Formats: sequence, structure tokens, C-alpha cells
Amino acid sequence: MWIDLRSDTVTKPTPAMMEAMLSAPLGDDVYGEDPTVNALQNRLTKMFGMDQALFFPTGTMANQAAIKLHTQPGEQVICDKYAHIYNYEGGGASFNSGVSCKLIDGHRGMITAQQVETAINPPDFYHSPLTSLVALENTTNKGGGACWDFEEMKAIKSVCDKHNLGLHLDGARLWNALEVGGATSLQYGQIFDTISVCLSKGLGCPIGSVLLGRKALMKNALRVRKMLGGGMRQVGVLAAAGLYALDHHRDRLSIDHAKAQDLGRVLQNMDNVAEVQPIETNIVIFELTSNTDANSYVEYLKSNQILISDMGGGKLRLVTHLDYTDAMHKKVLEILQNSF
Ligand SMILES: *Cc1c(COP(=O)(O)O)cnc(C)c1O
Repeated sequence: MWIDLRSDTVTKPTPAMMEAMLSAPLGDDVYGEDPTVNALQNRLTKMFGMDQALFFPTGTMANQAAIKLHTQPGEQVICDKYAHIYNYEGGGASFNSGVSCKLIDGHRGMITAQQVETAINPPDFYHSPLTSLVALENTTNKGGGACWDFEEMKAIKSVCDKHNLGLHLDGARLWNALEVGGATSLQYGQIFDTISVCLSKGLGCPIGSVLLGRKALMKNALRVRKMLGGGMRQVGVLAAAGLYALDHHRDRLSIDHAKAQDLGRVLQNMDNVAEVQPIETNIVIFELTSNTDANSYVEYLKSNQILISDMGGGKLRLVTHLDYTDAMHKKVLEILQNSF
């Protein structure tokens, strides 16, 4: 039995999810005629109190479309140095939108309103790129699943309003943040101009993300998605998985979070673990002591059929998810406990 803790993207659709996909009513979504896609989009539009929602194949494409909608070539996006849009989207911000990123040295992927204010280039100083967008991420991926203080996001919104900047939320992992609490989906919808949410992470769908936004921005979203190659046909077969996941896989995210806490507790007590980062959701990042080789430890776990991620710089990562069963959890806790 392989136990895969590298990411929460490794989940496979459950039989019941497959059933929902097989029985979904379908149509050509490029004509806007797929009833299941429309149902998913309508449901998320209402959930976030946004004007419009658009289904995308990946979170990357949804973020890339958002950047394009907010910016013109040559302009600049403010984001944390850990941002997914900067680190893990293949350089797409510069390729697709011709923009640069002004990286902020934040804390676990999160930045402050003060840092945003300082990072804005004065619009009349024509030597610098024009700042046009601020992009935040919740929960933060590279930041180890950390959750924002909603008040700080609100403060950033005020800065954006004052300087006429767009505000995008990379909410690929927002379901985990919503589970932890602090703010509702409607509150997120009130402060962000665009939000991307992922169905293929914690929610366990095989594919799918949705971009939500206000009407003025979203009027070009269909064309941008087409341009990026994301206009799909009978894609209700995938949207059905999303609808199913919203009904059945949201409440259980607390289970993933609890298991991550268990893993953290065991790691904390291991002699060869130097540090476990605070665990807020389903991501556990830890560092071994300097006399323990990270690669050998990954290989050791692999010889016990446990897969984890090496993030480089001595950091290792475990992510709990839908397919990580209680039996697997018991075995992992035992193996970790006996490993040093
Ligand atoms: C996973 C993820 C994405 C998008 O990933 P895709 O693999 O393209 O769906 C975007 N942002 C964050 C923070 C993520 O964790």
C-alpha cells in the first residue's frame, strides 16, 4: 500500500464522484450551453456574491487569465516572494501578460498593507513600471498552508482602492482557509475584484478551477480564456465533479487538518527534526537537524512506501488529503515515531 503525502492533488475521483460525472447533463460550453458548467458557475457566483464565474482547466490558467484581465504589458504586479503566480506558473505572468512581479519579503507568503503601500511605484514616475495589481494567496502554498488574518486583507483592499489597483486572490486553497474560519466566502467576494478557486486540491476533483469576478473585469474573461486555450466543450463532465465535491467534500476538510496536527505532534518530538512550521491547515513543513540528510530521509520513508516532498533548502513537506485513510495515518505515525 503506497501512501502518497506529496500533495493533495494526488487524489482520485471516488466512485460516487464518477457516478455524478457520468450522469451529468452536457452541452457545448463554448456556446455557453453546458447546463452542468452553468450550474457550477452559478453556484459559486452566489456563494461568493460575485457577478460572474468561469470554469478553467487549471488554477494556473485561472490565475493567468486574472492577471491578464487586470494588467497591460509593461505593468507590475505586487505579490509575496513565495507567490504561486511567481514561483510555480512557469513564468506565465511575463509570458502571457508581459508584466513583472514586485516581490515582497513577507511572512509565510503573507504581506502587510504597509508593505503594499511602500511597494507601489508612483504613477507619475515614468521610469518605473506602472503598478496595477496586487495578488494575494490564501492559504499560502509555499508558506505551508498558512491562513491570512482577514483584517489585513481588508487593509490591503483600502490601499488598492486609494491607489486604483486591482486586487486578485489566488484562492486555489481557499476551501482550507474557509474551513479554519475568520471570514466567509461572501466576505471574500466583497473585497476582491477576482478570486480563483481550485476544485482539484482539497476538494478531490480530478481537474478544474473557477475564476470569479466583477462584471467590468469579467467581460473580457471569455476571450482571454479562449486565447489561453481553455475554451472547452462538453466540460460539464468535469464540472459535475466540482458540484459533487462542494456537496460532499467540504465538511471533511477538518479531518485533513486534524491529521496534519497529529503528524506535526509526532514530528515535533523526533530528535532529528529541528523545526516544524506552525500547522494551520493540511500542509506540514518541517526541517531536519543539520546532521540528518533530507534526501536519505525521503528515501527511507519511500522504502516504507511513504512518499513525501523535498522542497529544497532542507525543507520537507507532507500534505494530508481525501485519499489518506485512517489506516494509512496510523501506519505513517508509527513509522515516523520509529524512524530515529
Ligand atoms: C495548486 C495551486 C495553484 C494552481 O495549480 P494548478 O496545478 O495549475 O491547478 C495556484 N495557486 C496555488 C496557491 C496553488 O496551491
